[in-house]
Amino acid sequence: MKSRWNDGDAARYVEAARAAGQSEALGLRIYTSRIIGGDPDLVLHGGGNTSVKVTSAGGETLMHIKGSGWDLDTIEAPGLPAVRLVPLLETRDGPKLSDPDMVSLLRASLIEADAPNPSVEALLHAFLPFAFVDHTHATAILALADQPDMRETVRHIYGDRLAYVPYVMPGFDLSIVADRIYREHPGCQGLWLENHGLFTFADDARLSYELMIEFVTMAESELARKGVALSGPQLSDGTEDMALRARLEKALVREGSPFAKGAFLDYRSTAAIREHAAKDNVEAISLRGTVTPDHVIRIKPWPLIIEPDADEAAIEAALAAYADRYRVYFARNATRSSEPKQMLDVYPRVVLVRGQGIYALGASNKAAKIGGDLCEQATRAINAAEAYGRFTPIGEADLFDMEYWSLEQAKLKVNAH
Ligand SMILES: [Zn+2]
Repeated sequence: MKSRWNDGDAARYVEAARAAGQSEALGLRIYTSRIIGGDPDLVLHGGGNTSVKVTSAGGETLMHIKGSGWDLDTIEAPGLPAVRLVPLLETRDGPKLSDPDMVSLLRASLIEADAPNPSVEALLHAFLPFAFVDHTHATAILALADQPDMRETVRHIYGDRLAYVPYVMPGFDLSIVADRIYREHPGCQGLWLENHGLFTFADDARLSYELMIEFVTMAESELARKGVALSGPQLSDGTEDMALRARLEKALVREGSPFAKGAFLDYRSTAAIREHAAKDNVEAISLRGTVTPDHVIRIKPWPLIIEPDADEAAIEAALAAYADRYRVYFARNATRSSEPKQMLDVYPRVVLVRGQGIYALGASNKAAKIGGDLCEQATRAINAAEAYGRFTPIGEADLFDMEYWSLEQAKLKVNAH
């Protein structure tokens, strides 16, 4: 992976920040957030987050952290709201915060009351004692992070430069665990998040960003060492069966369906998607889960799989089987939760046509396109993970906790506007 850093561009962002009465550091933060967001092999659609710590005119330490509802590739200063750092640091040695309490604390720490909600990872950013913190779900990292146990391999690849964080659900618990692991590994330059992604940090904007690029490149080299070629984003070049699309639309647009008012179908057939969809065990692989936890809120835990010649009856039967599986999944996991959960709809967000391609489904064109982009990246990560070893994402219980996490559901609602 190549660094997109450009001195001239960086200087322009610094100048623009100065002209707007903002700190130079915020200008650089906007710049490197955008070059991270501009690479679909680092983050996609609201995935990943960035922050920068600055000192206010009054001498107080503030942190600008990505706000909910913003994408890194188009972020502007209002998408990086400032919070006071001290109240956030106090939670490190305090009692466990519930989700609503954490959100209240973050909102109460905002400098501007009408700012968007700070990222659910704000505490983790706050605890890391560096000005710049960058977090991505890079494709090459996911191909390796979604393996059975990578602790030894990560150590072999990165030595002391990365500390290994076992999977913990994002939010308060991950912040506490990651902070403890960081402190046990002083001098590390980043955190490897099992089944999730990567953090890098530094006091310099360019260094934190270029550490990310370097570590992703090292993951690409590890894949290559085992003969696994990870292609970049691919264009859809397969032929779509328009009659199949019509049959799918007919089955989806109906009373009681989330697509009752219209189904948007984003069809993708790239070389990687066809390779994935043609695997004998594509159903077993698909049932393992999503490549990174937050994908589950947009594309559900698994796709619906149909044959290319599926007629109306076959599509109906597949949808019914999917709904049954989803109800069982909900019932099995909802009982573990201390708070009551309400089941979401039982329709898929991805339909995989065996051997041919993938339809991402949405109630809006935007939602369908986002799903299609996630699938484009996910299939490349899954193919690489299977070629390297065995694609092994978070298990069903963790997937459920993420899908039914109130904070993630709230994020989806913000994005729906
Ligand atoms: Zn993440």
